[in-house]
Amino acid sequence: MSLKIVEKDFDFSSLSERSVTDLIVLHHTGGSDIDASAEQIHGWHKNNNWAGIGYHYVIRKDGTIERGRPEWAIGSHAYGENSHSIGIHLSGEFDGSYPTEKQIENCCELIADIAVRYDIPIDRDHVVGHGELMATSCPGANLQALIDDGTITGKANYYRNCDSVDSIEPACEPQGARSTERFNTLASCPEWSQPTIRKMIEKGYLCGNGLKDEDGLPADLDLSRDMIRLFVINDRAGLYK
Ligand SMILES: [Zn+2]
Repeated sequence: MSLKIVEKDFDFSSLSERSVTDLIVLHHTGGSDIDASAEQIHGWHKNNNWAGIGYHYVIRKDGTIERGRPEWAIGSHAYGENSHSIGIHLSGEFDGSYPTEKQIENCCELIADIAVRYDIPIDRDHVVGHGELMATSCPGANLQALIDDGTITGKANYYRNCDSVDSIEPACEPQGARSTERFNTLASCPEWSQPTIRKMIEKGYLCGNGLKDEDGLPADLDLSRDMIRLFVINDRAGLYK
């Protein structure tokens, strides 16, 4: 994952550690469509007599991700839900205006990164707009629409799945060797793919041409590495449930 976070050195009056993380909450600046910085927001929230900036991340209009409150700390961004959530603020006002493409892409990559690290599913139970938790127009109708229509969770799942498939199986062999390589049995398939291949055999989606091994499993699957990668991606997308 190529995620770049711009670190900040804010001082916070007091912070406490969050022990549960199972929710990601999206916010906007609101008011007027300004490119609020983490520094600015830190100042505003200090003036509220809070420990400091309440959001864990601020995504500027050019896509830059700035660190707000340390990720381990309980935030101040979603009343009643701070003890188990991470707050991401996208700079701007999204009732009249729209988040930029870079804000959306980087937000989704950040969601994917957080979801992997805390083992949170990327779905509508775990990724919400502020207004789904309490009566507020935050994060603006135009950003909320992208949450509601599945754009945000879809892109975040894409970032999570693509990156993890690349990272579990780095391209370290010469292309020629890889293209002729064939996997004929479940046991010979790469370990990261075996749960998927097993499921496909058990469901009858993969059956080979009839040659069986001593366990009665197909022994002539004739799978290439690219096919296996695609099966794993499809499995993660829920196609073989
Ligand atoms: Zn909010």
